[in-house]
Amino acid sequence: MNYKQIARLASDYTDDSAKFLRDIIAIPSTSTKEGPVIDRIGEEMTAVGFDEVLIDGMGNIHGRIGTGKHLIAMDGHIDTVDVGNPKNWKHDPFKGKLENGIIYGRGASDMKGAMAALVYAGKIIKEAGLEDDYTLMVTGTVQEEDCDGLCWQYIIKEEKIVPEVVVITEPTNLQIYRGHRGRMELEIIVEGVSCHGSAPERGDNAIYKMAPIIQDIEKLNERLTGEPFLGKGTVTISQIRSGAPSLCAVADMAAIYLDRRLALGDTIDSVIKELESLESFQRAGAKVVVPQYEVASYKGLKYPTQKYYPTWLLDENHPVLNAAKRTYRNVFNKDAVPGKWVFSTNGVATMGMFNIPSFGFGPANEIHAHSVDDQCPVRHLTEAMKFYAAFPKSFSASE
Ligand SMILES: [Zn+2]
Repeated sequence: MNYKQIARLASDYTDDSAKFLRDIIAIPSTSTKEGPVIDRIGEEMTAVGFDEVLIDGMGNIHGRIGTGKHLIAMDGHIDTVDVGNPKNWKHDPFKGKLENGIIYGRGASDMKGAMAALVYAGKIIKEAGLEDDYTLMVTGTVQEEDCDGLCWQYIIKEEKIVPEVVVITEPTNLQIYRGHRGRMELEIIVEGVSCHGSAPERGDNAIYKMAPIIQDIEKLNERLTGEPFLGKGTVTISQIRSGAPSLCAVADMAAIYLDRRLALGDTIDSVIKELESLESFQRAGAKVVVPQYEVASYKGLKYPTQKYYPTWLLDENHPVLNAAKRTYRNVFNKDAVPGKWVFSTNGVATMGMFNIPSFGFGPANEIHAHSVDDQCPVRHLTEAMKFYAAFPKSFSASE
């Protein structure tokens, strides 16, 4: 591969890629409202020469290059979180302001910057003749901020697209990442018997039955463990609610909502069992449920799933990670030191659920994600383009 030519083309297309990023920042695209930005990305993919561009039944966009044997996906979700209080922003979140080599705005880091680099990497592949025995799918996916991985559950199960490798292009500050902790949401519900508040001894107060469970969950958090790379699991209570026939009656229902972060090895079954085995849980006759996500996509598709997002970690010596490291060394003339995300990504589905080898590489720094200082350096677009253009050929040659 001619890495000098890739580098030259990446710098030639940096301005176009930056302009495209500013354009897509200016199109708001919170989860379930991605239609207009998907259309804009499709236009750009077609203009730079992707072989085929289509939108699937959920509303994800797929840009294809080549028809070779090895199916490689590079994924960027193109929905964003909302902006919060606009007064807290120094730069208009929907202008894509460029200042001193940095582009600001909602989604700049998480993760429209990656999509801008991916589309122009496609152009480099075409122009430098980097096609080989692979098919590259660049996917712009929806609803990730609401329900990570749902888009890929749909792509794999319904569109029957099963890549050999998925590159998750969430922000890594131009490092290679190989996994992150998973997470899940749970609700614990306790029932009681109501009666008049003037004689509480006649009833059975659900809130009192919940109280020891709450204390046990605080203690459980301290007992949780995990291996050193991804770290230990955590649990916290994010919400509490209760019900009673009136404010002058004994509560007959109490519920707590849990945010549980998963270490390597934690599964939906192990987490539920761990709660069910708490003595306080059994004494209260509590039950635990995993809530469902079932919000319609902008296309109107409802694709219900449990709010369970498994941990994933690509082995240090996995051939896919070796291909990523080799590409990194050839492109940047230095060795990669694979890291991990603090947050969660679509990898929960591609690798966490379906065991498709996945790794991360993306422009921008995770610390700016969802912040009022959301930003992506233009230089990162250049560097990311080089990696994305080189990886498919480097991977398919190594197989
Ligand atoms: Zn993201």
